Amino acid sequence: MAGERLRRALWLGAAVLGPAIPLQAYFAGNWYSILHSYSLGMFCGIVSYVYFANTLILSARIRSFDRLFGHDRVMVFHGGLAGAALVLVGAHVGFKSGFFEFGTGQIQFGVAALALFAAVGLVTVLFMVGNRLHRIGALAALRAFGVRRLGFDYSRLKLFHNLTAPALALATAHVLMAAPTAETRARLWLMGAWGATALLVHVHHKVLRVALACRRAFRVTAVRRLADSTVEIRAARPDGSKLEHRAGQFAFFRLLSPACGLEEHPFTISSPPGSPTLHFTIKALGDYSAALPAVAVGARLLCDGPYGRFTPVRGAGPHLFVAGGIGITPFLSILREWDAAGITEPVTLVWSMATRREQIDEGFFAAVAARHAAFRFVPVVTREPGGGGRRMDRELLRACVEPASPACLTAYVCGPDLLRRAVIGHLRALGLPRRAIHDETFSF
Ligand SMILES: Cc1cc2nc3c(=O)[nH]c(=O)nc-3n(C[C@H](O)[C@H](O)[C@H](O)COP(=O)(O)OP(=O)(O)OC[C@H]3O[C@@H](n4cnc5c(N)ncnc54)[C@H](O)[C@@H]3O)c2cc1C
Repeated sequence: MAGERLRRALWLGAAVLGPAIPLQAYFAGNWYSILHSYSLGMFCGIVSYVYFANTLILSARIRSFDRLFGHDRVMVFHGGLAGAALVLVGAHVGFKSGFFEFGTGQIQFGVAALALFAAVGLVTVLFMVGNRLHRIGALAALRAFGVRRLGFDYSRLKLFHNLTAPALALATAHVLMAAPTAETRARLWLMGAWGATALLVHVHHKVLRVALACRRAFRVTAVRRLADSTVEIRAARPDGSKLEHRAGQFAFFRLLSPACGLEEHPFTISSPPGSPTLHFTIKALGDYSAALPAVAVGARLLCDGPYGRFTPVRGAGPHLFVAGGIGITPFLSILREWDAAGITEPVTLVWSMATRREQIDEGFFAAVAARHAAFRFVPVVTREPGGGGRRMDRELLRACVEPASPACLTAYVCGPDLLRRAVIGHLRALGLPRRAIHDETFSF
């Protein structure tokens, strides 16, 4: 645990303090000049360039980052670093505006890179990623207009987001075309290599990884309707080899089928580790997920994964699992594994669903409860026919936490954002420390 904390601190330090290396190469022996507006402009430009390169590296699903931080936290950090880079590039232009000639090629590359980064940043914040700005009515309405009327769905926005790679290539040209003097040559090479590395990592992620996934493609073996709007897709590799995963992890999934197009979407693996077929349990929430029941058996499925740290350890003390709606999927995998291996310490699963028709694998949870005295299943239906229903409130959670002491309980919460935040708030009020509450969000 201490080793993990140290590794996290080292990686965070490298991402945030990395620009210190080219800054040292630029200012070496000359740091006293930093308060001059030209030097301040260079300072901001160097930091923002390295941050842009680092954001590209962070978005490339590097497994060691995922294991240390979890994919969702890496993406949040990626967004924060990109925001800081945009502010700094603005300052770079502001401080240096009096010192450059607009017509030169070097400046034009820089301006083009800035325009692309700014456009991607704006579109991401306004339309792609849910954030606090959408609490402002006008911006929420703009986002809804973009999604419904302009067809800005997540996959198209993600395609647009990829323009950060050409933007970084333009910024690299801008850096390399800076008039080199003896004292800055090392910095130019260093920064050029930094940008080129980020671009290579990006190409590996977008092209080579897909090519490798094609060579190790799965074939759909079954498409089963589980409930009104939920399907289960099963797949296996023709050579019988398996995807090694831990219960609770997810994968990025691309079906090569005319029924749904070629988009890539993240889904939790709902089969247990070691299962001969890989299962995904999917609720129709939009165009892509609604098209999945029409996928034919035999379709090729590319899988990039597994990812995620939503992986409770069996036998590590009492556990409380809280699922909202389709947020049940990681617990399907976890409980299938624990059911086979034995449940010896108290485990309570609370599953909140809007109506009973959402319930899938009902018999399975009842059977696990019958087989293991330590397992308790608490379905919570929020809308019963004819009125009524229960809310996932603090009292209900208090009853689920007891009789274990909150100090030794570990909670795993997965579901829609509103429910997830509310449950985390209740559990903290009931005395669980934040570090004992693990949560997974179904959007980045
Ligand atoms: C880690 C993780 C695990 C998930 N596991 C499951 C699961 O087991 N079962 C399940 O039904 N759903 C799961 N989801 C949610 C699922 O990915 C989305 O519901 C699905 O992508 C919606 O696509 P759509 O086009 O049908 O709907 P849309 O209406 O286009 O999208 C609805 C929302 O889903 C998210 N989303 C859409 N496309 C993508 C994408 N390509 N990449 C990332 N997010 C996207 C966005 O937040 C978007 O606002 C998971 C999501 C994540 C992040």
